[in-house]
Amino acid sequence: MLVSSDSISKLCGGEQLILCRDDSVGLRAAIAIDDTTLGPAVGGVRYRSYPNETAALTEVQRLAATMTLKNAVAELPYGGAKSVIIQQDDDPLSGPARARLMRRFGEFVARTAGTYLPGVDMGTSVDDLAIIGESGAPVSCSEIDPSPCTALGVASAIRAAVAHIDGRDDLEGIRVLIQGVGHVGAALAHDLAADGAVVMVSDIDADRAAELAGAVGGIGVPAERALDTACDVFAPCAVARVVSQTTLSRLACRIIAGAANDTLADRALATSLAARGITYVPDFVANAGGVIDIHAIANAFDEQALRAAIEGIGRRVTEILDEAELRAETPLRVAERRAERVLAAAGTHSHTERLAA
Ligand code: NAD
Repeated sequence: MLVSSDSISKLCGGEQLILCRDDSVGLRAAIAIDDTTLGPAVGGVRYRSYPNETAALTEVQRLAATMTLKNAVAELPYGGAKSVIIQQDDDPLSGPARARLMRRFGEFVARTAGTYLPGVDMGTSVDDLAIIGESGAPVSCSEIDPSPCTALGVASAIRAAVAHIDGRDDLEGIRVLIQGVGHVGAALAHDLAADGAVVMVSDIDADRAAELAGAVGGIGVPAERALDTACDVFAPCAVARVVSQTTLSRLACRIIAGAANDTLADRALATSLAARGITYVPDFVANAGGVIDIHAIANAFDEQALRAAIEGIGRRVTEILDEAELRAETPLRVAERRAERVLAAAGTHSHTERLAA
């Protein structure tokens, strides 16, 4: 039977969507390879629960598309991908059951023969990646956690945004609210506290937030108050799509710059944020430190070269915010155009058309 010609394009927004299932280990997963124009597609493995499998398929493809933009803007020789393993129970698996799940998922990754290079993301660690790699799947990180470099990049983006708006080169007294203090958020809290910022931390794991607040001399904020607590910089470092039509009016910040991928529920919100006087640093520009680290390790960068590459994020943020101001466009549009230029030079089809679809 012929499948109607629009079924694949409706289901699959990028190059390839791979569904993985093994009931014997409780595996339901999806790998989205968005674009391989620039090279093998890099993107983390997210392990979390979803309201339904359709929500997981939507999320994985949106995140994969963001990875394409991220690698293009950072001018890295990688395409964009992402995968999700759907958490089946109330709590994530641990111990041998988790190892079986990750190993089996690794077998599916191995079938992509290096087209998909998985890394860490929400709910996974380098230990999981090491197990995923046991089946012969090349993985982008199995020993060194890129999260501290992601945090350094976000800190660099925040400094650049503050400099652009306030005309100052330091963060002394700048209030930064970090939503989600896992691998990236916790490292970011330490980096910003060392820079003299007033660090506010918030997490659905209230104990984790309280402990970190104590460690960095910061302030704990209840998770449900993260959006409407007054701050200079809101740094989403947890789930996607925290800025939506519903949450927009609650935001009490001047700048949004964080690690969480796919922060805007839809692209039009970039215009709404600008209208509210909130400077939005596109997530895929601010959070490239992790992929830069992965690239640096693969190419034996020394510490100085790695630092310089990560500081390049701040330089790009400055250029993007300057251009956005000059052209009266949103920083998102300017950043997307940068990515489009890089992809077009390498000969790809229109990525943004697919994003907008
Ligand atoms: P993580 O799983 O280590 O930490 C996430 C934290 O967010 C946890 O502490 C969790 O309790 C908390 N959290 C979950 N839902 C929340 C909610 N609704 N409100 C508040 N807190 C919530 O994840 P991570 O590796 O730190 O990644 C965080 C984000 O940064 C993700 O969106 C990820 O895609 C993005 N990112 C990570 C990297 C990296 O190097 N790890 C790189 C680029 C982007």
